[in-house]
Amino acid sequence: MAESATTFDVIVVGVGTMGAAACLELARRGKRVLGLEQHRLGHDLGSSHGGSRIVRDCYFEAPDYVPLLLRCRSGWERLERESGRRIVHRCGVLYLGASESEVIRESARSGTAFDVPFESLDAAGVCARFPQFRMPDGWHAIFEPGAGFARPERAVRTASDLAMRAGAILREGLRVLGWQETTTGIRVQTDAGVFEAGSLVLTAGAWTAGMAAALGVPMVPLRVPIAWLQPRDEQLCRVPTMPVWYIDRPGQSGLYGVPIAPDQGSPHGVKVAMHGDGVVVDPDAPRRQASPDELEAIRGATDGFLPCAAGAVTAGSTCLYTMSPDGHFVVDRLPGCRSVFVACGFSGHGFKFMPVIGEALADLAITGSTALPIGFLVAGRFARGS
Ligand SMILES: Cc1cc2nc3c(=O)[nH]c(=O)nc-3n(C[C@H](O)[C@H](O)[C@H](O)COP(=O)(O)OP(=O)(O)OC[C@H]3O[C@@H](n4cnc5c(N)ncnc54)[C@H](O)[C@@H]3O)c2cc1C
Repeated sequence: MAESATTFDVIVVGVGTMGAAACLELARRGKRVLGLEQHRLGHDLGSSHGGSRIVRDCYFEAPDYVPLLLRCRSGWERLERESGRRIVHRCGVLYLGASESEVIRESARSGTAFDVPFESLDAAGVCARFPQFRMPDGWHAIFEPGAGFARPERAVRTASDLAMRAGAILREGLRVLGWQETTTGIRVQTDAGVFEAGSLVLTAGAWTAGMAAALGVPMVPLRVPIAWLQPRDEQLCRVPTMPVWYIDRPGQSGLYGVPIAPDQGSPHGVKVAMHGDGVVVDPDAPRRQASPDELEAIRGATDGFLPCAAGAVTAGSTCLYTMSPDGHFVVDRLPGCRSVFVACGFSGHGFKFMPVIGEALADLAITGSTALPIGFLVAGRFARGS
């Protein structure tokens, strides 16, 4: 087949969470944008499926993220307003941990620093307010009422729909094979021809290693199992009675869950997973399904803290984290390039930043810089060893 070159202002490689957000923001700003996605939009082979994602502003991972999260609030509202679709449920998030829990301490510290409303609760307070939970002696909690969860598939679909409505061209089932910077911009080779643009945005998630080798550090895909549990007492496990919860288990991965909500659809049940547990995989290799042992491990762990939720496993799935070397994102110009920008290494906590990452990528692709406070996410930090 003869190659054809078509010219755009910006080409976005990978239309998952971050790529859809970038396409939308670029199209809103009047740019001719082409989004290229190797699978179907909304597919379940990357990092943006599974029905729910926690959104929260008390951020134990680092307080630097909080200004970005606070900006996301208006971004989510705009997405919901322009589409008429509900994406975020603000049912609150309860964080539980031992007295020395870093998650509790750092969540409280970042919340306090940026006036995010939250309450500190002792075991008696949790028991009175959320009788579903069993807390070990000496544990404590914080409750962030403005936090909750979002629907990722709906968010990606909505951003993609709005982007196309604003003029973006999104191509599904088309794989990017490589790209080069030229004297005038970018040439992108795909399995369906060549496209040209002024600048390139790489939002390839777990496939970043193949697309952005110039980062010079590994972005490691991890396969993470997820379980849905049939509650023993369903009334106690639905919004608004049950909040989203995150349990900081000493010496183990975090255990978190999302309550049942009316718009959940299939699979039914409380969604539970472990943050930090995963096996390194090749994102292109056939994906091993969640095994009965993996799902039972999640159910058993839940039973210890939340017996009302831990009935039978109703369904299981797997999803991919893309781990950066320090667990923090990279949102920056690709080292050594003029007009190539990358957002990757979301390390299992990126979804909640979708609107602001879209804005940052649009700023970078159009002007080469951004006023958003993303300096701590620079690619060069690994070379500096910081
Ligand atoms: C189990 C699980 C639970 C999570 N929970 C939370 C949570 O509670 N809160 C939170 O904030 N975050 C959470 N995350 C993290 C969050 O979901 C991710 O950080 C986010 O979805 C990453 O988006 P992305 O756009 O980088 O990747 P993706 O959405 O995977 O998008 C990358 C896209 O690029 C495409 N692509 C790759 N290579 C090519 C190519 N060569 N050509 C064309 N297309 C290509 C892929 O097909 C894919 O669609 C969770 C992740 C997992 C797996």
